[in-house]
Amino acid sequence: MSFADIIGQEEAKNLLRSAVTTGNHSHAYIFSGEKGSGKMMLAEAFAAMLQCENPTDDACGQCHCCKQSLSRNNPDIIYVTREEGKANISVDVVREKIVNDVDIKPYSNKYKIYIVDEAERMNQQAQNAILKTIEEPPEYAIIILLTANHNAFLQTILSRCVLIQMKSVDTESIVRILRTKYETVDYQANMVASFAQGNVGKAIALVTDSNFNDVKNRVIALCKKAGKMEELQIADEVKSIKEENDADKKNDNPEKFEGFMDQMLDLITLWFKDVLLYKATSDDNLLLFKEDIFDIHEQANDCSYYGLNEIVKAISETRARLNANVNFELTIMLLINAIKENTR
Ligand SMILES: [Zn+2]
Repeated sequence: MSFADIIGQEEAKNLLRSAVTTGNHSHAYIFSGEKGSGKMMLAEAFAAMLQCENPTDDACGQCHCCKQSLSRNNPDIIYVTREEGKANISVDVVREKIVNDVDIKPYSNKYKIYIVDEAERMNQQAQNAILKTIEEPPEYAIIILLTANHNAFLQTILSRCVLIQMKSVDTESIVRILRTKYETVDYQANMVASFAQGNVGKAIALVTDSNFNDVKNRVIALCKKAGKMEELQIADEVKSIKEENDADKKNDNPEKFEGFMDQMLDLITLWFKDVLLYKATSDDNLLLFKEDIFDIHEQANDCSYYGLNEIVKAISETRARLNANVNFELTIMLLINAIKENTR
């Protein structure tokens, strides 16, 4: 992993590059950003450039150190994660992997770099243990804390680390990467890039997730037919959504970005955004659901602004009800009814 492989994050890349080239680096960093925002890639690129024997504005990729870094076999880049099955990074892990290890000089590199993944999972004891190392690190030690929530850190840790916040990446850059590296067709790339909202990791996960396509097709079918559905059909649909949601909850995959129901609601929102956008502009180029242009046209003609607004309101009420654990079937039925009443 090198800086050249990372899309976006220009500010962070420049800051870290110049830290290496000037030798004016900190001993402790926090990389903060949501899952999929590229924190680990950035940390690995930084670590590789730090260890590289001939760095220019990136790791050279050719030297012995780079080869070790790139294959994650560098003995002086230490990955710290929580133990399997444990919710927290315990004080024992922090002591064993960092505090008691840091005084041993680098094995064969310039630096000893610790990358702590999900660092917000260090409990208070663990944070206090790592604090000592952050306060008085050996010259060669660099600690990088990766987190989705840097507010979970003790103030004393925050004040001693350089905080780098991951930025969302523009949609065009994500589309480009999906097209070139993942050979995604245009309409799919546009759709997924918008759906991922600047999160490259999420976009990549979605184009390789066959389930996402199923959920998308299901949402499109529902949005198209809701206006004509009878009570009994709605009941069937609710039942089937409930079954899918239960199965999704049971089969909790940590690699997944969001659950089935969140995907459904996000996609329904995007669909009606398209309808609204077409109604306001009559411009096909702006639409995400490019395969379904004729249905979007039809709904835009048939629905009123008032009705579309009612649907958007119903979607946000649905989210609120689901968060408040209101009865699932009832909540979904109200949503489908809102779509039915405001479409044809
Ligand atoms: Zn190198």
